[in-house]
Amino acid sequence: MRVPIIAGNWKLYKTTAEALDLVNGLIPLVKNTAGVEIVVAPVFTVLGDVGRAISGTNIRLAGQDCFWEEEGAFTGEVSPRMLLDAGCNHVIIGHSERRQYFGETDETVNRKIKAALKDGLTVLFCIGETLAEREAERTFDVLKRQVANGLTGIATGQLNNIVIAYEPVWAIGTGKTASDTQAQEAHAFIRNQVAGFYDSETAAAIRILYGGSVKPDNIKGLMAQPDIDGALVGGASLKADSFAAIVNYGA
Ligand code: PEP
Repeated sequence: MRVPIIAGNWKLYKTTAEALDLVNGLIPLVKNTAGVEIVVAPVFTVLGDVGRAISGTNIRLAGQDCFWEEEGAFTGEVSPRMLLDAGCNHVIIGHSERRQYFGETDETVNRKIKAALKDGLTVLFCIGETLAEREAERTFDVLKRQVANGLTGIATGQLNNIVIAYEPVWAIGTGKTASDTQAQEAHAFIRNQVAGFYDSETAAAIRILYGGSVKPDNIKGLMAQPDIDGALVGGASLKADSFAAIVNYGA
């Protein structure tokens, strides 16, 4: 039984006061939500404050990225251990914006995933094809490569702490959502890859989230697909009412 996850990626938005406003607005709207894991991923500087605000609630905290070393002369980086220290239980790794603007590769993503798992964080591992790759009919090759390289050297037992987020790059922040059918097709393909690299039991258990312009009005259709186990939400997670409506898709 795969428990759905709805995760909000706040990206580079929200000062401390704004983040607290958002989360304090969200808490009462989702406090009775059962059967859905709720995660928010604020910027590093507000993790501690948001972590304290959600303490004792059903909302969990994620970092938006982490480095693969525990500590050292790595100016500007944050390690998995420091995310744990700030109250995180999750971390987003390999988001397409990091791959696009910060030179992340499958190899660096893999190193980060290993480091985060070692310290006990649950990883939201992002993959997805660009528009050019989809138009060149390379979607499945890209997804296969990203899954294979991202999970290199990760043992079957560790997959319990990995959630894959399929985010077609052309659908992120563009208002264009993959159709339910397009998303389901990609999710089924990813699950099959996991079955091939690991085994069918592991593939059946792993949660695969969809991300890309998820809104209150398209979440139901996405969640009705057999291989979609939740959503990674950007823009619509920045307002308490729209994020709560997504979290409460089943109500
Ligand atoms: C994201 O940031 O992961 C995302 C999917 O953004 P949006 O929902 O705004 O497309």
